[in-house]
Amino acid sequence: MPDVLQGTGVSPGAGAGPVRKIAGDVPEPPAGDRHGADRQGGDADAERDIALAALEAVAADLEERGERAAAAGNTDGRDVLGAQALMARDPGLADGVRAKIGEGVGAARAVFEAFGVYREMLAGAGEYLAARVTDLDDIRDRAIARLLGLPMPGVPESDEPFVLVARDLAPADTAVLDPAKVVAFVTEEGGPTSHTAIIARTMGVPAVVALPGATSLDDGVRVLVDGAAGTVRLDPSEEDVRAARSAVAARASALAEVTGPGATADGRPVPLLANIGGPKDLEAALANGAEGVGLYRTEFLFLDRATPPSDAEQEEAYRTVLEAFPQGRVVVRTLDAGADKPLAFLPAPGEEPNPALGERGLRMSLRHPDVLAAQLAALVRAAAGLTAKLQVMAPMVTDAGDAAWFAEQCRDAGVAHPGVMIEVPAAALRARDIAAEVEFFSIGTNDLTQYACAADRQVGGLARLQDPWQPAVLDLVAPAAGAGVPCGVCGEAAGDPALACVLVGLGVTSLSMSAPSLPLVRAALARHTLDQCRQAAEAARTARTAAQAREAARTHLPALTDLGL
Ligand code: PEP
Ligand code: MG
Repeated sequence: MPDVLQGTGVSPGAGAGPVRKIAGDVPEPPAGDRHGADRQGGDADAERDIALAALEAVAADLEERGERAAAAGNTDGRDVLGAQALMARDPGLADGVRAKIGEGVGAARAVFEAFGVYREMLAGAGEYLAARVTDLDDIRDRAIARLLGLPMPGVPESDEPFVLVARDLAPADTAVLDPAKVVAFVTEEGGPTSHTAIIARTMGVPAVVALPGATSLDDGVRVLVDGAAGTVRLDPSEEDVRAARSAVAARASALAEVTGPGATADGRPVPLLANIGGPKDLEAALANGAEGVGLYRTEFLFLDRATPPSDAEQEEAYRTVLEAFPQGRVVVRTLDAGADKPLAFLPAPGEEPNPALGERGLRMSLRHPDVLAAQLAALVRAAAGLTAKLQVMAPMVTDAGDAAWFAEQCRDAGVAHPGVMIEVPAAALRARDIAAEVEFFSIGTNDLTQYACAADRQVGGLARLQDPWQPAVLDLVAPAAGAGVPCGVCGEAAGDPALACVLVGLGVTSLSMSAPSLPLVRAALARHTLDQCRQAAEAARTARTAAQAREAARTHLPALTDLGL
């Protein structure tokens, strides 16, 4: 293996520490495995006891980790793990294990088969539990790993800070991470707009994705991760680590000198807003000078919920955020359920061969209008009596019909400022039709790029195509930004300092990003005029490839180099 591995840097910063891998798949215990004289002396009672003890140990472990997450302020983590502990203790499951062992099946195989039966039973009970299957598999694998003495799957435990290495990370994996323990993320899969990348940026953790061979790194080997350059250096010297850290610190202090609301050098205001997934992200947003929230990903509040959140719970989660910005705006996105963010209480209608092209976002709201109505009502109650401006937008809008339907639901609920995300190419191309229905747009460049380039956000091998610098993507931004309504960008493109300038040059009126990117973008805008931004935009659109667009834009944005960006 070479000393330096190259992937795609998606969250800047330097992090050094030992590799801790999310363990690979737990193998299926062979069919026909039976307990006999060689184990527990053929004693079915003893075999049953070790199987049930393994399930109980898994439940207790999950519960204990949940309590630790809560003690560290991560109550979402406790809820996720608590729900899994309940599943592990399900009496129906224990009965299934007992019955299998009674038939002579060995403990590990009995656990495997009992879960299989349980899964089928749940599937037979409706689509409702489709999204729980991963949780069930996780509990099953943990119990089998215990019984077979294999490494525990899932996020590793460690007393010292570590570099988390995985094939890919799901939002539910990262819900239980202690940010103080993880110094960097490295994944083999996942593109620059995957949720791994978004979560890393939100947590302010350096990250490299789409790194070929990441999962072949040995557990415990020390690495230095450079989240800007996209490199992972094996066995770095102390000097390497010191140099990387001081470069990051120097840049941070240069950037910290630019403060105040976002604006170009010649004074064109460009409000700089934060992308958040819940009240827990407010602290970082405020610390980085966010002027409001430009994207509240409300589905992140309910990723592991089997039942719809109560009205009171929703109201509180929204009110806390609105209260944090008394002079600002808060743009709340209605639930973007589906694809890589399944919500158990909003099931897909069935197997979807291409979930990213399936029922997600507004399409799911059309299927479950009652859930949308409850969310809108909770938002209106949350905003009552507060001074923050509440704006509400729908994800995955395709045409003017979608937009008109959403605006009508907002009107009925008393939401004053409806908007839509522009993240489907059809919507971008017909932005004028859609602008007639709503008050504002917010361009989701992550999905817009995925759909324009036909490159799934989850697939690491396609990172090259998941690049919002693709001139075709810029060509789709332009009509949306020129459609006559205020138009922000809330995809990850807004947090790239050079691209942020280009977007402003294309006519975008506000930018919303993960909190740690705010100082970078604030500094980049403050050092360039609107005219320079327009020239950079023109140059990027005239280019033929993403790499050429990036290079061409930078020739009009000279201060980026001075800022080390
Ligand atoms: C986007 O698609 O750009 C976006 C902001 O939404 P999400 O990343 O949550 O899909
Ligand atoms: Mg999106």
